[in-house]
Amino acid sequence: MSQFTRRDFLKIAGAASAAGVLGHASLARAAEGGKAARVVVVGGGFGGATCAKYLRRLDPGIAVTLVEPSTKFITCPFSNLVLGGLRDMNSITQNYDALKKKHGVNVMHDTVTSIDAAGKKLKLKSGKTLSYDRLVVSPGIDFKWDAVEGYSEKAAEVMPHAWKAGPQTVLLQKKLKAMKNGGTFIMVSPPNPFRCPPGPYERASMVAHYLKEHKPKSKIIILDAKDAFSKQGLFQDGWKKVYGDMIEWVPGAKGGTVKKVNVKKMTLETDLDKHKADVVNFIPAQTAGKIAIASGLADDKGWCPVDPKTFESKLHPGVHVIGDSSIAGALPKSGFAASSEGKMCAAAIVALFKGETPAENSLVNTCYSLIAPQYGISVAGVYKVTEKGITEVPGAGGVSPKDAPDSFREQEAKYGAGWYASITSDIWG
Ligand SMILES: Cc1cc2nc3c(=O)[nH]c(=O)nc-3n(C[C@H](O)[C@H](O)[C@H](O)COP(=O)(O)OP(=O)(O)OC[C@H]3O[C@@H](n4cnc5c(N)ncnc54)[C@H](O)[C@@H]3O)c2cc1C
Repeated sequence: MSQFTRRDFLKIAGAASAAGVLGHASLARAAEGGKAARVVVVGGGFGGATCAKYLRRLDPGIAVTLVEPSTKFITCPFSNLVLGGLRDMNSITQNYDALKKKHGVNVMHDTVTSIDAAGKKLKLKSGKTLSYDRLVVSPGIDFKWDAVEGYSEKAAEVMPHAWKAGPQTVLLQKKLKAMKNGGTFIMVSPPNPFRCPPGPYERASMVAHYLKEHKPKSKIIILDAKDAFSKQGLFQDGWKKVYGDMIEWVPGAKGGTVKKVNVKKMTLETDLDKHKADVVNFIPAQTAGKIAIASGLADDKGWCPVDPKTFESKLHPGVHVIGDSSIAGALPKSGFAASSEGKMCAAAIVALFKGETPAENSLVNTCYSLIAPQYGISVAGVYKVTEKGITEVPGAGGVSPKDAPDSFREQEAKYGAGWYASITSDIWG
C-alpha cells in the first residue's frame, strides 16, 4: 500500500490549497417553518468571509448577512512581502464584490457593538439591530496593550506592530525606508499564543532582504519572549546563508523578554540589557477580538472555547467562533486554518438546520514563508477531531527538508505565491 507522504500532501495543498475542509458536507435545506434560516457572520476576514460564502454555496436557501466595517480587506498574508519591497499594498487588497454579486451574501459595512446571545440578536454601530438563528463570530485578534510598560495603542504610532495589515504596514514601511544605512531595526516578537507563528520570522527575513539591497550596514535584532519558534532551524539556516550575521535572535532565556519601552528615546529594556533602536516593530501579546471578549465568548485567558466539531461556543449556544479568536486545539492561528474552520463551521450549521449530526471532517493547514524572493519554506499539517479535541494526524505533514537544493527552495517560493492566489480567490472570488 502506498504511503501518503508530505510531498503528496503538498501537491494537493499546492494545487487546491484552499480546499480547506476535506470530506463531504451534505446539502441542507435551510427552511425552518417555511422561513429562510438566518445566519449573521461577524468579520469579513479569512474565517468569516469563507464561512459566509460556503454557507450560501452549501445551501442557497440560507439568508446570510456578513457584517464587516471595511469595504476592502487587506490581507496579513504577504504583507511581509510589502516590507521586503516584493509586493505593493494593492496586490494584497481584496474586496466584497463577488460575495455580494456572485454569491448572494448580504454584506453590511458596519461594526457589531454588542451581541445578545440569549435573545439571538446583535447591535450595530449604525444603530441597527439584526436577528439571527445562528451567529458566526470571526473578529481576528486584539492586543494586550498594557502588557509591557511604556507600550500602548498610542505608542504603536511610533513603534508600529503591523500585525493587522493596513495603515500600520504602511507606517512600518515608511520608517524602514527612512532608516539610515547602519541603523538598528528591533522587532519584539510576542509570547504564545499569537496570530501566525512563523510570521515574525518571515518578517525579519523580508526586512533583511530590503536592508541587504538598500542599507547593507544595518542590523536586525529580534527580542523574543519565547525560547523556540516555528520552522526555527530552517529560518536560522536560511538567515545565515542569505544574510550572514545581519539577523540576531535573542530568546527569552537569554534576555529576549522586553519589560519596558521608551518611545521618545527609542529604547527597550529586558532583564539583562538595554537596547537602542532606529526602528522598532513591537508585536504585542494577543487575545481574541474585542467583540468576542465583550460578548462573553472568551475564557479567562482571553480566547474562545468551542466544540471542535461545529465551532459552536461552549459558553453561548447558537454562536460559533472561528479563526484566530477560537481555541482550535492543534490548529495554528493562520489564515488557512481560519478558512478551513469557516468551511467546517458552514457545513456544521447546514447540518444542524436540517436536524442532522454534523459530518466528521478533517482540516488542513499549510504555511509558506519567504526567506528571500527565491527561497521559500513551509510547514503543513492535517488535523482530525478526536476525543482530545483537534489533533494533528501524525506523519501527514511536516516542514520542508533541512538540506534541500536551491531549486527546491525556489519551487516552494512559487508554491507560496500559488497558495496566496488560490486561497484569496476561493474566499473573496
Ligand atoms: C504578518 C502576518 C503574516 C501572515 N501570513 C500568513 C500566511 O502566510 N498564511 C496564513 O495562513 N496566515 C497568515 N497570517 C495569519 C492570518 O492573517 C490570520 O490567521 C487570519 O487573518 C485569521 O482570520 P480571522 O478570520 O480570524 O481574522 P481576520 O482575517 O483578521 O478577520 C477579522 C475581521 O473581523 C472584522 N471585525 C473585527 N471586529 C468586528 C466587529 N466588532 N464587527 C464587525 N467586524 C469586525 C475585522 O475588520 C476583520 O476584517 C499572517 C498574519 C500576519 C500578521
